[in-house]
Amino acid sequence: MLEISKIRGEFPILSEKVYDRPLVYLDNAATTQKPWPVIRCLEEGYRRHNANVHRGVHFLSQTATEAHESARSRVGRFLNAASAEEIVFTRGTTESVNLVAFSFGETYCREGDEIVVSVMEHHSNIVPWQMLCERRKMRLKVIPMNDRGELQLDEYEKLLGPRTRLVAVTHVSNVLGTVNPVGEIIAIAHRHQIPVFVDGAQAVPHRKVDVQALDADFYAFSAHKVYGPTGLGVLYGKKKWMDEMLPYQGGGEMIEQVRFDKTTYNVLPFKFEAGTPDFIGTTALAAALDYVETLGMGEISDYENQLLQYTQERLAALPGMKIYGQAADKESVVSFRLGGIHPYDTGLLLDKLGVAVRTGHHCAQPLMERLGIDSCVRASLSFYNTREEIDALCAALERIRKMF
Ligand code: PMP
Repeated sequence: MLEISKIRGEFPILSEKVYDRPLVYLDNAATTQKPWPVIRCLEEGYRRHNANVHRGVHFLSQTATEAHESARSRVGRFLNAASAEEIVFTRGTTESVNLVAFSFGETYCREGDEIVVSVMEHHSNIVPWQMLCERRKMRLKVIPMNDRGELQLDEYEKLLGPRTRLVAVTHVSNVLGTVNPVGEIIAIAHRHQIPVFVDGAQAVPHRKVDVQALDADFYAFSAHKVYGPTGLGVLYGKKKWMDEMLPYQGGGEMIEQVRFDKTTYNVLPFKFEAGTPDFIGTTALAAALDYVETLGMGEISDYENQLLQYTQERLAALPGMKIYGQAADKESVVSFRLGGIHPYDTGLLLDKLGVAVRTGHHCAQPLMERLGIDSCVRASLSFYNTREEIDALCAALERIRKMF
């Protein structure tokens, strides 16, 4: 059992006030707040351990390198990767997708080939593939979903063919909360010898992910959504692909030898890490992963699921409420519209009442189109949220409804 009041005490921002009201932070799918161990790690990194990694012979550089490489191993254990060399640090999920879209595309894709994505992808798991398709004169195919917000796997399998080069799919939808059966999606693709890229941005903060059990070829997430620092992300990629794939960016660190007539590239994972990495951020990410794993991913998941049930029941009871996303397996996100009130107005008024939610298209315009709306309000939960905060959200919505 999680001790929520103790946990809340470890996140200093949660005791801040907005407009003189206690902050109710329900925008966790956009970014999560940071606990003291992560904040301290960042502060100590700059105060005591700062030196550039990999290149220095001096003491500080060596300790910084050790901390950075041990953070990589920490991430590897978190995802259960077979080896730390399969873990590449990026700037976030977005950069991880762009890396694979470019490097996989350069290495394996030709005119007439196809990439399969789903209708519920975040723009960052659509646009890089579209760019690849434009560069290489390829086609993008889209897995449809049913009205509950679940991917239609029978339709999915029909999309796969001899020209399909890769399937790119989200583990958890940032709008609907749908948990996609990625294990099954991967198994189906593998029957056709097609690799799968999984966008884990909304999954990793909420449940245990095991890339080997899933047999994912690529898996990406962002540090800032899992209580770590911003501007940092992870790409897991199977060695068999990553070894063959051409580098994404050129520069320092990613080379073996540079000559004007020919440059050779470094081994994994450095081949994909041009330039100075965010070595302070990576150690803070390791602290964040220690933090969530000490709480227990199972405990986090159980608590958040109960809170999600409560949130959905309370919201559904409000007159004029329409909730988007009724998947059987759903996680920590509730998107909705209240009567005829524009989501933007709902969000602004909620803010004035101290409740932080997100409104808009949530970087998922094709999904909005499928739902027949242009925008919605999204409340997204973390283990530090409470039933009292959900009550505050509902009371605020009740007030807003009466105002209109
Ligand atoms: N994919 C999903 C499902 C997301 O929710 C997000 C963030 N909203 C991203 C990708 C992009 O993450 P980042 O902006 O951290 O790169």
